[in-house]
Amino acid sequence: MEVLYTSTRNDDEKVTASKAILQGLANDGGLFMPDTIPALDIDLDQLAKMSYQETAYEVMRLFLTDFTEEELKYCINSAYDSKFDTPEIAPLVDADGAYYLELFHGSTIAFKDMALSILPYLMTTAAKKNHVKNEIVILTATSGDTGKAALAGFANVPGTRIIVFYPKNGVSPIQEKQMVTQKGDNTFVVGIHGNFDQAQTGVKQMFADKELAQVMDAAGYQFSSANSINIGRLVPQIVYYVYAYAKLYENGAIAKGEKINVVVPTGNFGNILAAYIAKNMGMPIDKLICASNENKVLFDFFTTGTYDKNREFVLTSSPSMDILISSNLERLIYRIAGNDAKKNAEFMKALNTDGKYEITEDMKAQLADFYGNYTNEQETAQVIHDLYDETGYVIDTHTAVAAGVYKKYVAATGDEKKTVIASTASPFKFTRSVMNAIDEKYDSMTDFELVDELSRIANVTVPQAIEDIRSAEVLHKTVCEVDEMPKVVKEFLKIQ
Ligand SMILES: *Cc1c(COP(=O)(O)O)cnc(C)c1O
Repeated sequence: MEVLYTSTRNDDEKVTASKAILQGLANDGGLFMPDTIPALDIDLDQLAKMSYQETAYEVMRLFLTDFTEEELKYCINSAYDSKFDTPEIAPLVDADGAYYLELFHGSTIAFKDMALSILPYLMTTAAKKNHVKNEIVILTATSGDTGKAALAGFANVPGTRIIVFYPKNGVSPIQEKQMVTQKGDNTFVVGIHGNFDQAQTGVKQMFADKELAQVMDAAGYQFSSANSINIGRLVPQIVYYVYAYAKLYENGAIAKGEKINVVVPTGNFGNILAAYIAKNMGMPIDKLICASNENKVLFDFFTTGTYDKNREFVLTSSPSMDILISSNLERLIYRIAGNDAKKNAEFMKALNTDGKYEITEDMKAQLADFYGNYTNEQETAQVIHDLYDETGYVIDTHTAVAAGVYKKYVAATGDEKKTVIASTASPFKFTRSVMNAIDEKYDSMTDFELVDELSRIANVTVPQAIEDIRSAEVLHKTVCEVDEMPKVVKEFLKIQ
């Protein structure tokens, strides 16, 4: 059955999967949603025996229905190869009563690689299918991890260019070094004097700018998005929840059909939305536990039904979750509004003008699948410290937020279901915060001394992504004000 993609703000805009991937955002500023969520039509006993790549095919073919089998398998096999440092692609680690689903074994050691290693293949395949002549310019705002993962994915991909904006003072030193050392003539990295939300808003404004689109088209370019609003990122993220469930079953950790909980450290709401879709495809997932850091706008939303971004933006040790406007939440709002684009558009308008909206009681009732909570900075550090002390397993700051929230969930509910915690970054990406949490004595060490010490105490080899930047040259030095973003884009593309 063909699945089409509708804008969350306008029922009349309906496109194929490949067009939705190319476009990124719908013309009216809405996000694309599949018009039906297909049921997973394959038996668990079969799934249990499948590799990651085979599982990916079984899940993705249900959503990307205008891709041929050959095209989709080409994309999957090109993405999930030796760029990942483990053949399982997404291994599960059993520690302290939970299963950590390690989503950081790709080339930039954060979970963004799970989707961004396949997006360039999906996008160039989609361009070919739709006879696109323009060069595709990927425009991305990043809170740290998307930027590098997108750069790594698109670097030197023919027919594409990529421009990444990041908050100059809002990412970790390793994250910044990873981005500004990016090679590839088609890559451009810019720091902005502003926070992630400002970068994201600036990018969204450029996408919506019809005049700019015309100027671009005349020069042989068109924008697309590698942000998690692109359906080409959301769909590959559903895969690992299906895979994790099948592996737990295969390993005898759960019985067939036994319900599990999933905990996701959340920022833009893309990863947890993928888990929600997996559940709606029929996977036996019970609670979707949404973990926030001190930017706890989602916790407040789940407890009150009011989404309110009017608050102070806090810089935390989990920068990839320092977000006040969770873009992908719009897809959930649309769905719980009964796939009512008009109603959703009104909420989004209110968010745009007043910075807040309140959902109806009916909609609230449909959020029973979710549990939201948050951890503060001190709790997050304590979680890293205690887990290391008790088990020797070292997790990063984002994963620690999830583990901390999971503890709070169990304390509040007594729920003993088997639980998967999405482990979204390697601790090597946030070495200073992680090592300081383990012991204050590490504070005086340099960034790379910390890397070696972490490797020693955790008994884990330093990932290639970190080795690569030890001595790499800084290639990107552009910094601009928020309102100069369109100007620097034009300069990079050499258009007026
Ligand atoms: C992006 C990111 C998150 C948040 O994921 P969303 O899909 O934006 O909710 C969490 N942890 C890490 C390490 C990330 O890079």
